[in-house]
Amino acid sequence: MNATTVRHILDTIANMFPDAHCELNHSNAFELTIAVLLSAQCTDETVNKVTVDLFQKYKTPEDYIAVPLEELEQDIRRIGLYRNKAKHIQNMCRILIEQYEGEVPSEHDRLVQLPGVGRKTANVVVSNAFGVPAIAVDTHVERVSKRLGLAGWKDSVLEVEKKLMKRVPMDEWTLTHHRLIFFGRYHCKAQSPKCQVCPLLDVCREGKKRMKTSQIRKDKERKSSALNQNKIVNE
Ligand code: SF4
Repeated sequence: MNATTVRHILDTIANMFPDAHCELNHSNAFELTIAVLLSAQCTDETVNKVTVDLFQKYKTPEDYIAVPLEELEQDIRRIGLYRNKAKHIQNMCRILIEQYEGEVPSEHDRLVQLPGVGRKTANVVVSNAFGVPAIAVDTHVERVSKRLGLAGWKDSVLEVEKKLMKRVPMDEWTLTHHRLIFFGRYHCKAQSPKCQVCPLLDVCREGKKRMKTSQIRKDKERKSSALNQNKIVNE
């Protein structure tokens, strides 16, 4: 894909979603880390419902380890995999207290060593809480990048991230991450992408394929309906 097409894609999604932002409610790096950790295989909406009360009750790492594990589990039970996540949160909080004076480290390589914090979570935290450019690849970013040809179909999540980092100017990484998520969440949806009204259809291999398939289906339906009409007339 050439640089002009990449620019066209970036400018188009910027126009479509100028206010794209992190949809997980948080007021500091620690809350953001907890929210991203909770969001694995769970919608941001559900996480936000749970964190309304959670962040009232638990404000510091000390608060999370002051309660029995079962109590924390109950407080996040509406979230998928809540038992594992509760365990990760308490273990992470212990490390934050023992090694980082209760603060979330701003370095990516330190963040990924924390329990429950993978590469994606670390990217979200460094970019949103510490202003370090990063592109976190979640399910929306991966799907949209592959459909548009910004990455290959068989690329791993890490390969998608590397290709995006190569193609997108560094000072646009964080915003592009948010815009690709909004584009995937509200427009290029997994099951029903809005190809017919998509301003990127002209450069999208997946969209063109889908439109062609839908045209062939419509032609077939038209032919079969015409045949049936003829049959009725001849009878
Ligand atoms: S044309 Fe369809 S598949 Fe391609 S980006 Fe647009 S909505 Fe997604």
